[in-house]
Amino acid sequence: MFTGEENLQLLTTPKRIVITTHHKPDGDALGSSLGLYHFLKKYNHTVHVVVSSDFPSFLDCMPGREEVIIYPEQPALTGELLAEADIIFCLDYSALSRTNVLEPLIANAKGQKWMIDHHLDPENFADLVYWDSNAAATAQLIYTFIDDVLKGGEKIDAAIATCLYTGIMTDTGSFRFRNTTSAVHHIIASLIDAGAKNWEIHEQIYNSSSERRLKFLGYALLNCLEVIPEYNTAYFAISKEDLSKFEISTGDTEGLVNYALSIKGIRLAALIIDRSELIKLSLRSIGEIPCNEICKKYFSGGGHLNASGGSSSSDLNTVVNLFKSILPDYKEILTRK
Ligand code: 5GP
Ligand code: MN
Repeated sequence: MFTGEENLQLLTTPKRIVITTHHKPDGDALGSSLGLYHFLKKYNHTVHVVVSSDFPSFLDCMPGREEVIIYPEQPALTGELLAEADIIFCLDYSALSRTNVLEPLIANAKGQKWMIDHHLDPENFADLVYWDSNAAATAQLIYTFIDDVLKGGEKIDAAIATCLYTGIMTDTGSFRFRNTTSAVHHIIASLIDAGAKNWEIHEQIYNSSSERRLKFLGYALLNCLEVIPEYNTAYFAISKEDLSKFEISTGDTEGLVNYALSIKGIRLAALIIDRSELIKLSLRSIGEIPCNEICKKYFSGGGHLNASGGSSSSDLNTVVNLFKSILPDYKEILTRK
């Protein structure tokens, strides 16, 4: 979907631009934001990236990371920038609530909102919408937005390429998931040609664990993983005590859910974590099992068919029991040969 194309003419003169993304940014959220940031800076716009929260330390290597404005650290500046922006980019989310504390600031801002995203069921709040749920990552859409729409492909330098490569790499599980089409590989080839060092990015993102994080992984696999063979389902339930024992912070649990899915025959995996203020859920599935439907219906969340998230204000046991009680409804699809 591409609507509001006529608004693009705004970019012909320097503008005040603020790039926003979802709460607790992941590799795609931050990669697409910083990729677009570096690109727009080349045209003399005043550009800022603002986020609602901190993000995993493995993303600290991203070019431009030190220029990202984190709301809790600079609330007044964030508010001012959003209020005065001519254009607010909304990247890697299509529901305003996903920006958490930024939601009212974005909703009340007078500037145009331009959404670039690949999540299902987009809300209708943007003046320009460049949206495709078949895209593997928002970073892929930023690439085509720059190249096809803005005709600026030749301006993609090593910094932009590194950011977009990181976004695509993390949202495709290192080019493994079903969303990794040949078009994705063509874009990745162009990004490498433009200066993205694929091996170095992989090293920085995936080989940057602390000893504590790895020991937590061992602990979780041994003590927190439950398998329910009759529903081809496996889940982790992680308590606040588990988190504090290993001093687990943002990003340390990233990818854990995939271990549950890696068991032979498992088609639905969940990571259920007691984050104190809320219980956070991550669901992953194989084939047609609709993680997004389950998250939307039971856990106030959403996402993609095979990867979704949600949350609950109940306690950990209640959420685990609710998750287990849903499985019979999906028995046919979970056990289909
Ligand atoms: P994760 O499990 O890695 O947190 O998220 C997986 C996918 O689900 C991501 O695409 C993310 O955008 C989406 N997602 C995660 N949490 C939420 C949530 O609370 N609400 C909605 N609508 N989507 C979510
Ligand atoms: Mn994404």
